[in-house]
Amino acid sequence: MKILLKNGSLKGEKNVDLLIENGKIMKIGPANSLTDENAEVIDLSGLIVLPGLVDLHTHLREPGREDAETIATGSAAAARGGFTAVHAMANTLPVADTAGVVEQVWNLGKNVGLVDVYPIGAVTVGLKGEKLAELSAMADSNARVRIFSDDGFCVSDPVLMRRALEYVKAFDGVIAQHAQDPRLTENAQMNESELSGKLGLIGWPAIAEEAIVARDVLLTEHVKSKLHICHASTAGTVEILRWAKDKKVNVTAEVTPHHLFLNQTNCESYNANFKVNPPLRTSKDVEELRKALAQGIIDVVATDHAPHPIEDKEGEWQSAAFGMTGLETALSVVATAMIDNKLMNWADIARVMSERPAEIGQLADHGRPIAENEIANLCIVDPEITWKVDAQDTHSLSTNNPFHEMTLKSKVVHTIFRGKFTMKSGQVQK
Ligand SMILES: [Zn+2]
Repeated sequence: MKILLKNGSLKGEKNVDLLIENGKIMKIGPANSLTDENAEVIDLSGLIVLPGLVDLHTHLREPGREDAETIATGSAAAARGGFTAVHAMANTLPVADTAGVVEQVWNLGKNVGLVDVYPIGAVTVGLKGEKLAELSAMADSNARVRIFSDDGFCVSDPVLMRRALEYVKAFDGVIAQHAQDPRLTENAQMNESELSGKLGLIGWPAIAEEAIVARDVLLTEHVKSKLHICHASTAGTVEILRWAKDKKVNVTAEVTPHHLFLNQTNCESYNANFKVNPPLRTSKDVEELRKALAQGIIDVVATDHAPHPIEDKEGEWQSAAFGMTGLETALSVVATAMIDNKLMNWADIARVMSERPAEIGQLADHGRPIAENEIANLCIVDPEITWKVDAQDTHSLSTNNPFHEMTLKSKVVHTIFRGKFTMKSGQVQK
């Protein structure tokens, strides 16, 4: 089957036709120059063509919490959001801390076939922070794990963190740290500030994140390894990253769409869909995170898509689970935060949501140039549309989307995964 995409704007830069066949981009020509009688022709006038999006941080919940999400439903949500690859976090039941579990996730993703699912391996057995998991067995497995994380928990023991950083050097792995000092955040509920006092919620200080980021940057430099910082959320973290990059430490960092768009005042509603780890911070932090992403101090956007069933989110703020869904709204949120505010252009979006994440994950088939003979993984966006989010309108099994009823600019229209539509005109092709 052939697809001929007519007159699409390559990363917002120039208009082209693209002929796709056998999973690859076979031909690229000037706008409205290509014809093919046997191809399905799709007019992309007014639309932006990006490489398929790549998420470094997705919670797919399977195995173990199939009431919240499955690899099938999460993959559908990803396809709808323009993703062609996602990295599945290890905090499943059982934990993805062995070759067996990561291969199970890898195979389930392949069977669904809507997106490439790359498992992340746990750093420590059972995410307990006591002893290292079988990192090399996971690296050598069919799942070819390169990113390791205890996400949900911080690898807080500095000796264990040092050992993990040393260990993954053997196969060029990276440790993705959920930076949260556990002692500084006991029972914490929202960003520590005047507002947390006013709302009567236990504060989560910015330094609980920054202290771990600083320590791990130093450890990484000391052992000459590779570190990735999950969901950077504070201006102080940005300052440490700026210093680390200046010193050429091998550290990369991600920011979530929600930390680029929402802030702690959303918590005034006591709506637990705004409860997230790390917490929503101040508007000043949001401003610094946006600047850092535009400047490359923060490398990538990652969703931290964290589905939870309704019973884990309703009721009291204190007892509600941490986390938000985000795969389906990520591109629109980032475009609204960054393009509408003239901080970035579409080529920058391609960099932070596809090219750099694929580099960090060491993915050969994603985040590649849109060029002849490349694998056809594409995300096609309408940059002009404005739309209102409806949390119920989702392919995820969970509805804890904090952007419910908010108006966003731009939307993914089509997703092409390995040469086939996984979403066409807004409809996921299961
Ligand atoms: Zn996390």
